[in-house]
Amino acid sequence: MSINYNLDSKQIEYAPKSETILLFGGLTLTRERILQAAAASVGEEYIFLPNATYRSYELGKMYGNKAQCSPTYFTVGNLIKYLIYLRDEKKIPTKEIIRRYVHVTANGCGPCRFGMYITEYKKALRDAGFDGFRVVSFEHNGNIFQEAQEQIVKFSPKFFIILTKAAIIADILTILGDKLRPYELNKGEVDKVLKRCEDKIVEALKNRRSLIRELYSCRKELEKLSLNRVVPKPKVMVMGEFWAAMTRSDGNYQIHKFLEEQGAEVISQPLINRILLNIWEAEYLREQKEGLDSKGLVDFSEAKKKTLILGAKYSIRATFNLYAKAIGLKGYELANMDYLYKIAKDYYPVDSNGGEGHLEVAHLLEAIKHKSAHLVVSVKPFGCMPSSGVSDGIQSLVTSKFKDANFISLETSGDGAVNFYSRLQMALFKAKQSAKEEFSKFKLPSSIPSFVNRYNFEPKAPCISTAAKIAFYLEQRR
Ligand code: SF4
Repeated sequence: MSINYNLDSKQIEYAPKSETILLFGGLTLTRERILQAAAASVGEEYIFLPNATYRSYELGKMYGNKAQCSPTYFTVGNLIKYLIYLRDEKKIPTKEIIRRYVHVTANGCGPCRFGMYITEYKKALRDAGFDGFRVVSFEHNGNIFQEAQEQIVKFSPKFFIILTKAAIIADILTILGDKLRPYELNKGEVDKVLKRCEDKIVEALKNRRSLIRELYSCRKELEKLSLNRVVPKPKVMVMGEFWAAMTRSDGNYQIHKFLEEQGAEVISQPLINRILLNIWEAEYLREQKEGLDSKGLVDFSEAKKKTLILGAKYSIRATFNLYAKAIGLKGYELANMDYLYKIAKDYYPVDSNGGEGHLEVAHLLEAIKHKSAHLVVSVKPFGCMPSSGVSDGIQSLVTSKFKDANFISLETSGDGAVNFYSRLQMALFKAKQSAKEEFSKFKLPSSIPSFVNRYNFEPKAPCISTAAKIAFYLEQRR
């Protein structure tokens, strides 16, 4: 972890920890609310920034350097937007904002622009009139091995463990929303129910109650949902650069919402995938190093690292499965990073590890091999080197080998919504056709049993769409 100041910090008397307000942001509202409660449960009070908007992007461009990738503009601009709000709407003097507020962010060593985020924050904050504002960063790829060096934020193992549990639950609620919302009979009902589940989790975290019990109690809420799941809708996997694919904001033109409005069921990437990738990268590097250092002797100095990696890997998976079972999320498996590496390594030079590394190519290959989506969309930010420069080139090779793959790579520049939606609609048309064709192969019974519309009914079937899976199941039981 490192702490960064814009000015010679000796000129500013910063507030003590007890008066300091920590800002964090860049995820989705559900994730941020649950993570905020998790941090509070271990005594760390965070304020999460509101979702990034086009205004954030404008401010990022206005105060940032030229030719940055769009997540840089959105995230840096979003912080500036919030500080301007504190100054102009809340009437907090600039000096007081600089003295008391600290922004906590992830940072990396590149090779992409992630390694330059801190410099960008510094420049933009200075030019926007917040010179001296503190930005604290932790290495996104240092994960379980980073040690706290500063007292202002305690990145203790306890803090990371509760945050990981919270991230898993937030992912599960997000996945449930994506699976159920397209089939709701009463518009807005799924979001209302999930909000009640979110409230329960937030309260449980704040009061240190059992998370499993709360998740189990959410089942009662979810069981009340009125759904019609026998409508053929294409499944669309949204992947790509981490932030651009994950955000539910103007940062990707609200792609998830748009796809649902256009009649699709979205398969989104959970936040925990990013952590699993970091762990996989740590393991891969450790193994490479072990190979280089090996002189036929057992290296005990690496044993602790090896145990930590294995422990983190298996406990994340076990926790996810436990929580998913408690709430009734069925038929969903977390990404298997070893398998994704195995299928991607013949296409992607795995040592090129910027951005999502080999993961974009692996996701497409997995969707093709396992027939899990009618369309795969890769969302890539304008100016992103790993995503546009490397992965996209390799995706052309993949699609030339697998001619049936319905894949589209879309750039989010922050000011090209019309082009983005129009290209997406073209690819979606083809996906809708395939979903209809798949469904038309089955003959539905005259009366459809009500249990198939339960939120947790998940039959195993060699089909892609939810409706086709149910139709297959009904045909088999006749
Ligand atoms: S992966 Fe791409 S979009 Fe993300 S920080 Fe790096 S260059 Fe920017």
